[in-house]
Amino acid sequence: MNIYDFTLTELEEYLVKNGFKKYNATQIIEWIYEKKVYDFNKMTNLSKKLISFLNENLVFENLEVIEVEKSTLANKYLLKLKDNNKIECVLMNHDYGYSLCVSSQVGCNMGCSFCESGRLKKVRDLTLGELVGQVLCVSKYENIRIDSIVVMGIGEPFDNFNNIKRFISVVTNNKMINIGQRHLTISTCGLVPKIYEFADLETGVNLAISLHAPNNEIRDKIMKVNHAYKIEKVMEALDYYISKTNRRVTIEYIMLEGINDSDECARELAKLIKGKLMYVNLIPYNETSNIDMKRSNLFKIKSFYDILKSNNINVTIRKEMGGNLSAACGQLRANAERL
Ligand code: SF4
Repeated sequence: MNIYDFTLTELEEYLVKNGFKKYNATQIIEWIYEKKVYDFNKMTNLSKKLISFLNENLVFENLEVIEVEKSTLANKYLLKLKDNNKIECVLMNHDYGYSLCVSSQVGCNMGCSFCESGRLKKVRDLTLGELVGQVLCVSKYENIRIDSIVVMGIGEPFDNFNNIKRFISVVTNNKMINIGQRHLTISTCGLVPKIYEFADLETGVNLAISLHAPNNEIRDKIMKVNHAYKIEKVMEALDYYISKTNRRVTIEYIMLEGINDSDECARELAKLIKGKLMYVNLIPYNETSNIDMKRSNLFKIKSFYDILKSNNINVTIRKEMGGNLSAACGQLRANAERL
């Protein structure tokens, strides 16, 4: 078993079940996450019996960096998992610190038509150890502390809900990765029942929703998930999340030429979210040779932005971090696997 596959509570239970003390879990976690010691033999305050138990039963399963694409403001990493599957994560260098975008699955079954990751079906969910492994791997590779995390890479996080819940626990535990709840964001394409479950956790972790259309007609065409959960249901679920948490929701909106970027779409979007605790992040589309969709031109994006602004909607245009990276999510993996 991989030591990174445990939350603190799970490790306590595991050790107690095997005849050790609950506090031994905290000692081990401190060695790993604070002192960066990745060898049980060097954990000098543990008994010989415990060290030998740990060596027999647990391993440090680290992810391997196999490719890095660098640009001024962001680096993209292709990481190899133990079973040779590959995932991506992206490190962004903001003026407020380093932010890491992590993947939640190998591939994705949601099938959004503009998405390189969705073009490739889900192979499997990532384990907790692989979610945590991305953070540890990149911070070790770059020798930095990561200040915030977004779960917005390959995969639908709420389709791997249980491990995402456990990941939140590891990320926000002050003895483990120790990143505040407000610096962690989970992004979903709109799995409505899970939005309610997430709201009921009352964690203070941020929620982003990939909306990408202001009405069902357009959303049905570009996001299969809309066949199951219509926009009205998504909005109801978001209202519930806001009522439980009082946290502002981010509406992600990829600008696709001739599909969802008209002035009429902007007015419809403004009407849909007016008065709600939400803000819109307009994302210039990253084109890929495998998908026949184009990025909206700057004039369209600006016009869309202006209409939202004039309707008192909080809106930003996402800064392009990637430069000439294989910027589409999943593109580096697809190239490496020749998928
Ligand atoms: S946009 Fe997200 S949910 Fe949709 S296919 Fe891509 S990875 Fe999956």
